[in-house]
Amino acid sequence: NEIEQLMKTADIALYAAKKDGRGRARMFSRSMLVVLEQREMLRRSLRIALQEGQFFIEYQPLVRPPFSIAGFEALLRWRHPLVGLIPPSVFIPMAESDGLMSEIGQWVLEQACRVAGTWPPQFRVAVNLSPAEFLREGLTDRVAQALDAAGLRADRLELEITESVLLERTTNNLDTLNTLNVLGVQISLDDFGTCYSSLSYLKNFPFDTIKIDKYFITDLESDENSQTIVRSIIALAHGLGMRVTAEGVETRGQATWLQKEGCDQLQGYLLGVPMPAEEIDEFLQLSSLVML
Ligand code: C2E
Ligand code: MG
Ligand code: MG
Repeated sequence: NEIEQLMKTADIALYAAKKDGRGRARMFSRSMLVVLEQREMLRRSLRIALQEGQFFIEYQPLVRPPFSIAGFEALLRWRHPLVGLIPPSVFIPMAESDGLMSEIGQWVLEQACRVAGTWPPQFRVAVNLSPAEFLREGLTDRVAQALDAAGLRADRLELEITESVLLERTTNNLDTLNTLNVLGVQISLDDFGTCYSSLSYLKNFPFDTIKIDKYFITDLESDENSQTIVRSIIALAHGLGMRVTAEGVETRGQATWLQKEGCDQLQGYLLGVPMPAEEIDEFLQLSSLVML
């Protein structure tokens, strides 16, 4: 038993060391155990979160500069009854590794389509797809069903995928993307510039939109390298007939610069924070006042 305990603590320390990167050593400490136990607790609650109705979706506006709203991105939220709000960057990787993400993602897709069905018809809804959902058989059927059930035109749905989705299974990926394309849904490449940014995908698949990661937008006003990179991505996208969305726009200066450089859409706290579905009406009314 003592040996078992020792092995367990060694394992926890090993896990912590690995997390810090290659070639590190870490001593076991009590706080490591606490962190791990908390993660285990969350992991277990995640299994029942869907049935218990603890998930909800917030919608963040996608804006054509200066003020025209193109649609909203659906962002998943988990409100744990004891812990409170848990960010998707924490629970989505857990759900993904526990095989729960395709079920949760299906719920997001259906829910987001249903909500978008109540909006004025010029607004699109963007839904993020995780690798698990993308790789599971029958994605196109599930998308078609969700659209059907909500009575939503296919071109009002935009699916956001990251490159990590495309890395896993190359040949069929293009088939899947092409079938979705035939269905008429829009496809965007999320977080562009942070992962591998393999240009072969851009050559082989006509994405509708490239979303530039906020990493390049944050210091846009002070960093010439970011400016050069963003300018080049815009030129690259436009040359390929794709639109560009800038993520994480927080300041007026960033928005003005991006508009001047021909960026098609802006998303960020400056233009609107993620909000619950019930607040969208009011938001639309306010923003139509701004345009007058
Ligand atoms: P993402 O798809 O790149 O979404 C944009 C993230 O940037 C969101 O974080 C949003 O709240 C945040 N954001 C928006 N404007 C600003 C800004 O001006 N400044 C800063 N600093 N951040 C801003 P969030 O909601 O925490 O989501 C994080 C990630 O979790 C998303 O990144 C997406 O990859 C994933 N995610 C969220 N919902 C879903 C979902 O339903 N399914 C899947 N598979 N992934 C999801
Ligand atoms: Mg996204
Ligand atoms: Mg993104």
